[in-house]
Amino acid sequence: MQTKGFYDEFGGIFIPEVLNPVINELINVFENIKQDKSFWDEYTTLLENFSGRPTPLTFAGNLTKHFNKGKIFLKREDLNHSGAHKINNVMGQGLLMRRLGKTRVIAETGAGQHGVATAIMAAKFGYKATIYMGIEDVERQYSNVFWMKKLGATVVPVVDGAGTLKDAINEALRDWVGNFDTTHYCLGTASGTHPFPEMVAYFQSIIGKEVKKQITERENRLPSKIYACVGGGSNALGIFGEFLKENTVELIGVEAGGMGADTDMHASRLAYKTGKIGVAQGYRTYFLQDEDGQMKNTYSIAAGLDYMGVSPILASLYKSKRVRFEAATDKQVLEAFQMLLSHEGIIPALESTHALAKAIEEIEKSTKDDIIIVNLSGRGDKDIFNIADAFLDNDWVEFIKKKNDYYKNVQKQS
Ligand SMILES: *Cc1c(COP(=O)(O)O)cnc(C)c1O
Repeated sequence: MQTKGFYDEFGGIFIPEVLNPVINELINVFENIKQDKSFWDEYTTLLENFSGRPTPLTFAGNLTKHFNKGKIFLKREDLNHSGAHKINNVMGQGLLMRRLGKTRVIAETGAGQHGVATAIMAAKFGYKATIYMGIEDVERQYSNVFWMKKLGATVVPVVDGAGTLKDAINEALRDWVGNFDTTHYCLGTASGTHPFPEMVAYFQSIIGKEVKKQITERENRLPSKIYACVGGGSNALGIFGEFLKENTVELIGVEAGGMGADTDMHASRLAYKTGKIGVAQGYRTYFLQDEDGQMKNTYSIAAGLDYMGVSPILASLYKSKRVRFEAATDKQVLEAFQMLLSHEGIIPALESTHALAKAIEEIEKSTKDDIIIVNLSGRGDKDIFNIADAFLDNDWVEFIKKKNDYYKNVQKQS
């Protein structure tokens, strides 16, 4: 069993033995759907009808003019229903559940984006859903909890450990062990035990397939560089997949550099070379852990990149140097964020802005003939309070001050 699902030395199946039957069942169904062209057709039709696919490849004309280097294009995953690429994966797993004959879905969620996407999928297919979420995250991301409940899902706050994503994953696995005859575990990124990394990357590969068609139709050639942000790795593998064998296309994965390489306040496992190879949560990869193998706390301004592990497929592409890994700091991200708003009128998710920030930093090295594609994995509405805090919006502070002064004067006069 341990030879399955390895990418170089990464990946594999490291789970409680009781789950072997359900993992084997999943592997078999996944092998079947990969052979079955009608499944992919059903999948793409579903996303066309439900999530507005294909998403556009937008030419960022103003930014391109501003830098006067390569042509910049944005893959608009932010225009998906629910606001990010996560819907691709959950709808694929929803269809797969129908083949498995399962009617209940469970999922882990950190910031709540994958939880909301899973609750949407369950409502659409008529499944029961239970979402595990660390108690700290429930408090921090209550608006997502609200939507999950309204969509009909049960949200279980997890009080174990630090009450964050890691603990939610453990609790979801515990549920699966007890209920796998009726229940499918819908993992949210291209990590975890085999076959999840391959399966999630397969569903997300729709991004890169569309990009290849769109850029060849428009420019009649392949891009020079593709940038994508990396949390667990699903949007990056989604856009990279179709180009892995195209050696002229440079692929760059961008991690959360947070407060920088000389601090502990980041979530970079590869670019800062701080990750150590280990086994946790069902698979082997680079984890942010201390000398004793304890998982470290991670930090990022973008909740979706705040994860201690990384897809085993990306770990092997890092080792083989097919994908170059970089990190963008919070400061760079906020600058790039403002730039995209004012030049292109697009509000990106803070996660996606990491990819853009690195593309901007490196644009000096490009020539006018280069084509640069940035995967805009999601939209930024969800980040409003984070971003306002980070910018300490001066207009707003001024306004509050004026308002308080006004009331003070009114009181004085009366
Ligand atoms: C969840 C999320 C990510 C990070 O997840 P990956 O699996 O690495 O893609 C990136 N961008 C957005 C908008 C997200 O919601």
